Amino acid sequence: MSDNQCQICFAGTTRREVKEEIYTFKGHETVIQQSGLWCDSCGEGILNGNDLKTTAEEIADFKQAVKLKTAKDLKEKREKLHITQKQAAEICGGGVNAFHKYEKGEIFPPKATINLLTILANHPDLMKEIQSG
Ligand SMILES: [Zn+2]
Repeated sequence: MSDNQCQICFAGTTRREVKEEIYTFKGHETVIQQSGLWCDSCGEGILNGNDLKTTAEEIADFKQAVKLKTAKDLKEKREKLHITQKQAAEICGGGVNAFHKYEKGEIFPPKATINLLTILANHPDLMKEIQSG
């Protein structure tokens, strides 16, 4: 048994290197340069504390950027529909302050909320079906 045998698949050999990895957060992707012990067979990596530290800031920045972009998009969609945050909350649920927090990027909105506002912003005529119900 080699010292470098992969402890995940036991078939490949691991080597310390920097690998390009796709990092996904809430449906958004970014490419990071991740150091670690990477297997040449299964492709899995074993990351130690230092490996994780090298990308922690980049990942945190990416997550923040996704949050802010989502917040901005949601606000634009709501404004396109000419409804207040309170009205948006009545349509989507989530309480009076929910939209305020979504649009400030303090809370990540539920996917259903994003999807519903996306549909309504693209098809404003559907608003009457909700308001009459
Ligand atoms: Zn492996």
